[in-house]
Amino acid sequence: MSSNHGENPALPALLDSEQTVSQFLDEIDDGYFEADLHGRFMFVNEALTRMTGFSRAELLDPQSNHFSTYLDASTAARLKEFITAMCQNGRAIRSVDLPLWCRDGVTRHLDVSISLIRDAYGHGQGYRGFLRDMTEQRQLEKALRTSIQQLSMLQQVDSELSRYLDPNAILSVGLNAAMAISRADLGLIAMLEESGLHIVRSIGFGGSDQGRTLNLNEGIIGRALRTGRAQFCADVSRDPDYVADVGGMEANIVAPLTARDRVIGVLNLETTRGVRFSAEVYEFIQLLTARLAISLDNAVLLRTTQEQLSALQKLYAHVTDLEHLKTDMIRIAAHDMRGPLSVIASYVDLLRGDLNGSLDEAQQGYFDAITRGLDRLMRLSTDVLSLERIHARREKPSESVRFDQLVRDVVEQFKPEAEQRGVLFRSSVSRTPVFVVGEASELSEAISNLLTNALKYTPGGGKVFVQMIAEVDKVRCEVHDTGFGIPESEQARLFQPFYRVKTHDTAAISGTGLGLHLVKNIVERHDGAVYFESQPGTGSMFGFTLPLAPVAGRVDSSAQACAS
Ligand code: ATP
Ligand code: MG
Repeated sequence: MSSNHGENPALPALLDSEQTVSQFLDEIDDGYFEADLHGRFMFVNEALTRMTGFSRAELLDPQSNHFSTYLDASTAARLKEFITAMCQNGRAIRSVDLPLWCRDGVTRHLDVSISLIRDAYGHGQGYRGFLRDMTEQRQLEKALRTSIQQLSMLQQVDSELSRYLDPNAILSVGLNAAMAISRADLGLIAMLEESGLHIVRSIGFGGSDQGRTLNLNEGIIGRALRTGRAQFCADVSRDPDYVADVGGMEANIVAPLTARDRVIGVLNLETTRGVRFSAEVYEFIQLLTARLAISLDNAVLLRTTQEQLSALQKLYAHVTDLEHLKTDMIRIAAHDMRGPLSVIASYVDLLRGDLNGSLDEAQQGYFDAITRGLDRLMRLSTDVLSLERIHARREKPSESVRFDQLVRDVVEQFKPEAEQRGVLFRSSVSRTPVFVVGEASELSEAISNLLTNALKYTPGGGKVFVQMIAEVDKVRCEVHDTGFGIPESEQARLFQPFYRVKTHDTAAISGTGLGLHLVKNIVERHDGAVYFESQPGTGSMFGFTLPLAPVAGRVDSSAQACAS
């Protein structure tokens, strides 16, 4: 170190090998200095010249070698205080943060540790210090602090935004937050609608701007909408696109509100003091608009859904009213029709009896047609009233029904009709008692409907077979026929009320399309299930299962079937 302070005889040789130490000090990254008790640099290492930008000669120049030359007045005073205290108590100064002026005009933040240089008698002769450049670290810390601050602000805005489901409240929260964060003088949010871009919120424009339409292609706003990207203009006087609504503005930020890949609006902020719109603020505003757009979009979606729901509810109430009206009308018609129909039927019978023998073939045909029509009307009225009765019943059927006997009785009733139609009619019903819980009249009606169909849709010469099979916990009742069968495309709607299959073979067969619907309703009311199989030209099988009555109905599944 003799090269630096060799001229100062007051400082003794501090280390044995000055040259080695001097070389070592020049190779380290930290700055190092030695100063006399007046604060004048006596030695500086290489790293200190790099940190400050001043050469060794400049730093050691007697005109400028006092440390205060490189510090602002308050820092110099603070350091002086530390050094005075150190000289008095002999305790080293550890890790003090010092802003140091450097040649490039930049202030570097240094971490400084200083200790006393003592002579052989322990008296202070000067001091030495190490300086570490903390500028980068300070910048990183500052950036981190800013990010944390931004995140917590964003979190606050987020929780504010999520408190509201009303688009108007969300717009207010969003614009107020953007204004507060950017310290803008003017701010507005405009939303894109079919009729154009309308201002929905504004602050600082004097008078109300609400509802004013903006030109979609004009200004920096137009540019943001065209590109779908946020725009940052630090000096509006240099941007030819800028359109001034209020004079005296210096900087402008425009951020599009984008939700589900669609621009739904735009946020515009302007300030008279450009410095307020820093890069951090710009970045932050973009984060804010992303959240604002999502909240707004969700709120609008919710509102639309609620509107649609209430429209649907109104429609449903209307349809329900109509449905009740229709049901009442059908019931009244079906009920009131029965009296006049019976009167017509008995007079037709009387007339036919009186005229018996005097009717020619054509007149007989007219009477037959009247009778067929009356039968049809009677059947329609019966079906409608049955359906109505079943729908109206709330409580479950609870009688214990001897199901095997019931099936046999219904089969018996249909034998004459089968014979009349020329259809071979057979059945297989177990003689072992089988009990179900239900209502006998309804279950008879269900089997009758299946049998009516089987006979109706099986041409003469065909076969109809009724089978009852008892299983461990349920009983099956199936009606098989070798009739016309049903095309697959028609099968899905068979159980819908009034649905009739239209095929060439069955077109002339009359019916109302209520039979199968009734069967399904009856079976399901008894906790059973209907099933079927059908093939056009081959035949059909319609059947249902019913749960067996709890104890009495348990039967041995191997019970012998009785064929008749
Ligand atoms: P109704 O109300 O008088 O019974 P329908 O017999 O026409 O009238 P459903 O019993 O509900 O009405 O039957 C619906 C349709 O299913 C019938 O129109 C018929 O085309 C078809 N269908 C039902 N059973 C059979 C069957 N066994 N074979 C062929 N087609 C059938
Ligand atoms: Mg039928």
